[in-house]
Amino acid sequence: MLKSIRWRIAVPYLALILLVTLGVGITSNRFIRKIYEEETLDHLADQALLISDALADQPFPPSASQDLEEQALRWRALLDARVTILNQDGTVLADSDQDPQSAENALQNPEIQQAREQGRGHIIRYSPFHDQQMLFVAVPIKLSGQILGITRLAIPQSEITASQNQLRNKVFLIIGLTALGAILLSYLIAYLTTKPIIQLTKSTRKMTEGTLGGPLVSRGYSEIHQLTRAFNNLVKTLRSQIQALESEQEKLSAVLQQMTDGVMIINGEYEIELINPAAEVLFNTSAELAIGHSAAEVLRQHQWIDLLHSCREEGKEKARSLDLPGKDLFLQGIAIPLGESMPDHTLLLFQDLTRIKRLETTRQDFVSNISHELRTPLASLKALTETLQSGALEDPPAAERFLNRMETEVDALAQMVTELLELSRIESGQVPLELQHASVHSLVEAAIDRMRSQAERREITIETDLPGRLPEIEADPRRVEQVLVNLIHNAIKFSDPYKTITVGAKRDSHHVIFFVADQGIGIPPDDLPRIFERFYKTDQARSGRGTGLGLAISKHIINLHGGDIWAESELNQGSTFHFSLPSMDAG
Ligand code: ADP
Repeated sequence: MLKSIRWRIAVPYLALILLVTLGVGITSNRFIRKIYEEETLDHLADQALLISDALADQPFPPSASQDLEEQALRWRALLDARVTILNQDGTVLADSDQDPQSAENALQNPEIQQAREQGRGHIIRYSPFHDQQMLFVAVPIKLSGQILGITRLAIPQSEITASQNQLRNKVFLIIGLTALGAILLSYLIAYLTTKPIIQLTKSTRKMTEGTLGGPLVSRGYSEIHQLTRAFNNLVKTLRSQIQALESEQEKLSAVLQQMTDGVMIINGEYEIELINPAAEVLFNTSAELAIGHSAAEVLRQHQWIDLLHSCREEGKEKARSLDLPGKDLFLQGIAIPLGESMPDHTLLLFQDLTRIKRLETTRQDFVSNISHELRTPLASLKALTETLQSGALEDPPAAERFLNRMETEVDALAQMVTELLELSRIESGQVPLELQHASVHSLVEAAIDRMRSQAERREITIETDLPGRLPEIEADPRRVEQVLVNLIHNAIKFSDPYKTITVGAKRDSHHVIFFVADQGIGIPPDDLPRIFERFYKTDQARSGRGTGLGLAISKHIINLHGGDIWAESELNQGSTFHFSLPSMDAG
C-alpha cells in the first residue's frame, strides 16, 4: 500500500492528525479535570463562606442545637451537598446527613486543620459514613478575626467524575469529528494531487507496452499540470515521429517485397534477421522457417558462408557467383557490411544472372556454331582453289567441274548468310507481319507447287489431306508459305525416293492445325526436343547439306502469329511436323 504515492502523501498527514488528536485529547482531558475540580472547589468554598457568614451573624454556637440542625438540612436541600457545622474545638454541632451525637471530633481532619490555618481547606478522601470517596471543603466561621467554628461541605467524588466525563465526552466527540474531517480532507488532497501523477504513470506504462493513448485532461496550472501538458506534447511528437517511421518502414518493406533481387540481413551470430520474398523463392524457404535460424541452414552452400566470413573478416563488400544445384539458377551473391548503422550485421544481396548467363552461352554457342558451319564450305573452297591453282586449270573439263563445286559451296554460304540475316531480323522484331485473311487451301497448294519439281526429281509423291471446309486464318501468307516450304523441303531432304509426303490441315476449336508428314529417316527421341534450336542438326543430317536454321526461323514466324509448332517422329518410320494458327471462325 505504501508503494502508492497517494498513500505516501496521505499516511504522514493521517499520522500527524492522529498524533495531534491524541495530544489534544490527553491535554484537554487533564485540563478539563483540573478546571472542573477547581471550579467545584471554589464553588463549594464560596457556598461554605456564605454559610459561615450567615452563622457569624447570629450567636454562635446557637443555644438551641435543634435550630442549627434544621438550618443544616435546609442548606443541604438547597446546595445538594452534605453540610457539617463544627465547633471551634472540632465537635460536630450539626450535620445534614448524620446525627451529630454519633459523629467523632473532626479537629484532626486535614481539611479542618487547613481551614483553621489557611482560611480554607479541602481534601478528597474516603468517608466511612458514605462508604465512598468524598470531596470535603471547610472554611472557618469568623467574627472579628476570631474563629468561632468551621463550616464544611462535602459532595461525593463520583458526582464530580460523572460531570467531568460528560464534558470530556463532548470535547472528545468534537475532536473526533474534527479529526475525521481532517482525515477526509487529507485523503482528498492526496487524491487530487496524485491523480495526474497516477494518470501519467498509467499512460507511460501503456506507452512502454506500445500503445499511445489520447491526450490527458489537465485544467490546472500547478507543476503537475504543466508536467501533464508537457507529457501530452511529448506523446504528440512521438506519434508523428512513429507515423513518419511507419511510413518509411512501409516504403522499405514495399521495396523489399517487390524487389526481384533476394535480400537477407545476417546478424553477428550468423542468424537470419530479415529475408524478402525473392530470397525465400531462391532458397526455397519461408520467412517463418528462416528468421532466427542459422544462415548455413538456409543458404546450404558453403561458398555463401565463405563469402559471409570473408566480408565480416575484411569489413568490406565481397561478391561471388554460383550455380544453384538442382534449380538451373546462376546467382551472384554480394555481401555488404552494414557498418555503424547495424554493427556486426551483413546485408546479403542475390541477383539472378541466369538469363544473362544463358545469353552469354547462346552468344558463345552462336559464334562457335557459325564458325563450325563456315569452316566446311570455306575449307572446300580453299581446297578447290588450290587444286585449280596447282594445274587443274590446264584441264578444262576438270576445271569446270571444280568451278561448279565452288559455285555450290558459295551458294551454301550465301544461303546461310541469308538465313542468318533473316533469323536475326525476325528475332529483333524487324519483320512486321502483314496480316490478312488467308485461305488454308490456297496456302497449302502454293507451297506444294513451289516444291513439286524438287520432289519429282527425287521420285517423291506429295499428297494433300484437306477437309472440304476450313475456316480462314489471319496470317501473313508469305511467311506461312515460307514455313510450309521449309517443312516440305526437309521432308524431301530426309526421305528416300518413292516415298510419299502428306501436307494437310485440320480445324481445332480456335485454331487451324497444319501438318507435313513424311516417311523418311525420322528423328531420334533425344534430338526431338532440340531440333527447333539454331544450328541444331541430328547426326544423320550432319553429313548432308543444311544450315540448321530453317526450323528456328519457322518457329519464330509461327510464334509471332501467336501459334505453336511441334514435331512427332519415329526413327526410320517418318516424322510429322505440326503448327497451329489462330482461325477466324472460333466455332
Ligand atoms: P536444316 O537446314 O539442317 O534442315 P532445319 O532447322 O530445317 O535445318 O532442321 C534441323 C534438323 O532437324 C535437321 O538437320 C534434321 O536433323 C532434323 N530434321 C528436320 N526435319 C526433318 C525431317 N522431316 N526428318 C528428319 N529429320 C528432320
